[in-house]
Amino acid sequence: MSAPVYLDYAATTPIDPRVAEVMSRYLTREGIFANPASRSHMPGWQAEQAVESARRQVADLIGADPREIVWTSGATEADNLALTGYMRANRARGRHLVTSIIEHKAVVDTAKSLEQEGFEVSWLTPDRDGRITPEALRDAMRDDTVLVSLMAVNNELGTIHDLPALAEVAHAGGAVLHVDAAQAVGRIPLDMAAQGIDLMSVSAHKVYGPKGVGALYVKRDPDMRLEALIHGGGHERGMRSGTLPTHQIAGMGEAFAIAGREGEDDQAHIRALRDRFLAGLEDLDGVHRNTSIDHAVPNILNLAFEGVDGESLLMALRDIALSTGSACNSASVEPSYVLKGIGVPRRLALASLRFSFGRFTTEAEIDRTLAALRHALIGLRR
Ligand SMILES: *Cc1c(COP(=O)(O)O)cnc(C)c1O
Repeated sequence: MSAPVYLDYAATTPIDPRVAEVMSRYLTREGIFANPASRSHMPGWQAEQAVESARRQVADLIGADPREIVWTSGATEADNLALTGYMRANRARGRHLVTSIIEHKAVVDTAKSLEQEGFEVSWLTPDRDGRITPEALRDAMRDDTVLVSLMAVNNELGTIHDLPALAEVAHAGGAVLHVDAAQAVGRIPLDMAAQGIDLMSVSAHKVYGPKGVGALYVKRDPDMRLEALIHGGGHERGMRSGTLPTHQIAGMGEAFAIAGREGEDDQAHIRALRDRFLAGLEDLDGVHRNTSIDHAVPNILNLAFEGVDGESLLMALRDIALSTGSACNSASVEPSYVLKGIGVPRRLALASLRFSFGRFTTEAEIDRTLAALRHALIGLRR
């Protein structure tokens, strides 16, 4: 039997071989393994240079200054640092935060923990397309709102938010904008100044880099203060202590540099595959699109299959690596809170699957998936 078709790129991507090759230079005794914080010898300086060169690669992709990049263990930690770090540092100015019900759990659960700490949170609901409108944000703003946190691209639906319009409303209300861009890097253009973004979380493993590393963009501004969550040696200008993982960081830098050069080509390749997939679905009955494709990245497609149960369909599609909504929910049988949030009826939400395509997806894999889907649906509906 051949290996399963991997259509779960939104959960994680394989490391690009070019990235793996770069990472391998920073591991062993022959390589650059020293502590990048060691200031007293050449190996330490070389490691520091690798870290700083990766910092520039990450900054370049998002139109930032390298001094605005804070390394973290991933987007989850970056989200925690942005929300908790900013709210705690600014508690004298205001206690109110605005976010939405369709954010990743890394934002949703951090906001809930801030509620426990005495902060107040307003939870925006999206429109039917899965987008938070600037009008909805304007209505939620208060005199004491200090932070707005909204994602760039939704991980279950692929919906893209109008960041400049949302930033304008946040700023007009005296708040800063945090954006979770884990699903946006390499998929849509990101430019901190042009889009009005003050804080932004990114991750390496969603863009063909390694798991376990990410970053928080923190706009350089005297008013931009964050309280550290992890205390120690004062690394990353005191915002995030801990010895920097040189190999992970160099890998993330390379992955971001490749995304800068090839992201557009990747998306064109993926769009053609997504359209081939949609065309192949046309003669199947009872298939609903949860993703509003005019407002979404081409690499994520969320579909509901009438008359079947999502879990049974997943089982029948053993040859295809897929997920029902977000990976973090795959242990529970509750319908996805994101699908519920855009008003998908429970019956259809429970019959929904997320197909996510990537750099290494082929036409043959799309065709194999269509054939498997056809077969599974006939079997389950009989
Ligand atoms: C994957 C993901 C995260 C978590 O990123 P990690 O680097 O795995 O911690 C956060 N937000 C979104 C939107 C994601 O897709």
